[in-house]
Amino acid sequence: MTKKLYLETVGCQMNVLDSELVVGSLRRQGYELTQETTDADVILFNTCSVRQHAEDKIYSALGRLRHHKVKHSGTIIGVLGCMAQKDQEQIRRRAPHVDIICGTGQLAQLPALIQSVQRTGALQIALSLDRTQSRHEVERSFESYDPMRDPSMRPNRFQAYVRIMIGCDKFCTYCIVPSVRGPEQSRHPEQIAAEVQQLACEGCKEITLLGQTVNSYHYDLGAGRTARLSDLLARIHDTPGIERIKFITNYPKDMTDDLLEALRDLPRVCPYLHVPAQSGCNEVLKRMKRMYTAEFYRDMLARCRERVPGVAISSDFIVGFSGEKDVSFERTCDLVREARFKNSFIFKYSPRPGTKGHELYADDVPEEVKKRRNNDLLAIQNAASLQDHRRFIGTRVEILVEGPSKNAWKQESTGPVQLTGRTRTDHIAVFDGNPRLAGQTMQIDIEDATSFTLYGRVVTSEQVGVEETDCCDESVRPNQRIELPLVG
Ligand code: SAM
Ligand code: SF4
Repeated sequence: MTKKLYLETVGCQMNVLDSELVVGSLRRQGYELTQETTDADVILFNTCSVRQHAEDKIYSALGRLRHHKVKHSGTIIGVLGCMAQKDQEQIRRRAPHVDIICGTGQLAQLPALIQSVQRTGALQIALSLDRTQSRHEVERSFESYDPMRDPSMRPNRFQAYVRIMIGCDKFCTYCIVPSVRGPEQSRHPEQIAAEVQQLACEGCKEITLLGQTVNSYHYDLGAGRTARLSDLLARIHDTPGIERIKFITNYPKDMTDDLLEALRDLPRVCPYLHVPAQSGCNEVLKRMKRMYTAEFYRDMLARCRERVPGVAISSDFIVGFSGEKDVSFERTCDLVREARFKNSFIFKYSPRPGTKGHELYADDVPEEVKKRRNNDLLAIQNAASLQDHRRFIGTRVEILVEGPSKNAWKQESTGPVQLTGRTRTDHIAVFDGNPRLAGQTMQIDIEDATSFTLYGRVVTSEQVGVEETDCCDESVRPNQRIELPLVG
């Protein structure tokens, strides 16, 4: 009999990918997804620990399930991912109705853990070692979770994430990731290439390579040879069917020239870099242990733009980190004013027990100051994004259509609706068209822009996507010839 699975995901792209893989593997065990916790046999939360807010959300959701579990004692509730790895004691105390606690490095055990709960009714825990143990042992306890892909588990079949490494060794003082995702370990390039090939055969056109510090990727091939990210990009570049390759997230210190040259020379690698700066103040960067200065970051930006003409760059910032004074924050504002980022993600500092930052420094910036700095920096970034977006007005860009925009439901159900897609530089564009254009690469004329969005019109006189490919699944030819336009 079909069993029902409810899965809620919080956090980064790595969690989204983990969830896709978990659902794929449980579907092979006969589970079907449900949108409701009330009719689920298994309820899973794939969790994030990067900020307190993400943890609070999960504890609230678990709290709401307490009564449900009393009435339906057979329902299995599991906490997966970063919070599970970090806080098993706290989860047991605050949510004793949880049946499974499974860390990021143990997801392959999940089907067996569910069976054990069904058999014994007892709490099942699968966690990796903490980072005080020997590196080799800890590495072995964090398994890269890369089971078979299931295209029906992605929001669409033409875009996919591919994990190229796990973990992080940078230990920025504010960040919990190195503890909950373990040591940095890169996957073998041939294993990655095989996965990309399989995804392409299933109709995938765009892949995004994932790593916490993706440009630190290096795999020791033996005999003194190492595969770097630039080598990996070259290796997968000509996979038939793949039109776009992106990679996130980059670490500023590891932005090497060979990588920038690969970005410049490999046409399917998109000219887009997400390179978080975190702060523009050297004292703050030092306390964050980011290992670079604001001057280094500026030089790196200049080098990216010189080597890769037209590259779009985005960033992350933390405001209100311990010891951040008004004058330190001003340095960050200066950087954002100058840097011409496409966009920035701005976060208020959230102290994380278990990090050096929490241990060494007081959380001494009041909440209202963090809020104000967040808003001020956002306003500066929004003005820069508007300027960046407006230069597209009057130009023609290539879009990969992702599907109806979030406003599409407001429109009439027949005829064209508002569609959304992204340029090769990761700019979001909306335009009217038929929903069946999702997955197609098209030319769009940009007519207007806001800080967040380009507004365009489909180019009517062209045919795009005519390149023939040699794909193994005839039913899902990735580059089909399409007839345009379908717009009103
Ligand atoms: N590995 C990536 C990197 O180094 O940029 C990103 C990892 S983290 C999941 C994503 C972003 O969350 C970081 O770039 C940082 O801006 C933010 N972040 C991490 N720890 C934080 C904390 N304790 N409080 C607020 N924001 C935090
Ligand atoms: Fe966290 Fe720093 Fe590693 Fe990014 S590089 S995951 S911010 S420790």
